[in-house]
Amino acid sequence: MYCEYCKRLVEGDRCSFCGKKCKRDVQADDLCLVRSIGQIWADMLCDVLQQNEIPYYKQSDIGAGMAMLTGLHMESFSIFVPYSRYEEAKETADALFSQVEEGEEGALEEDGDAVEKESEDE
Ligand SMILES: [Zn+2]
Repeated sequence: MYCEYCKRLVEGDRCSFCGKKCKRDVQADDLCLVRSIGQIWADMLCDVLQQNEIPYYKQSDIGAGMAMLTGLHMESFSIFVPYSRYEEAKETADALFSQVEEGEEGALEEDGDAVEKESEDE
């Protein structure tokens, strides 16, 4: 089913995000939420979608006034694509963000700490 309020695919007949009852199945041209992410990541994802010729719709999660108050870096965006391209876009996003997340985790100091401790024991 498809929640028209959240623009998400829903399992069963009730949306687990807004709790509203979903009345219809998803149509090929319905927009579906891929990710809700910060501006930098949103731009990155949009670039990749564009390269893959997947049409997308980027929506700011908070109003411009709110962005002014919290600072522009806090602004996040929701990226939607038509359901017909949803699987493709989701895989693209997963691949993009798993790379990013792995890279960030790899930079953690775990290895460095272990080496330092070993040399202290000597
Ligand atoms: Zn919903």
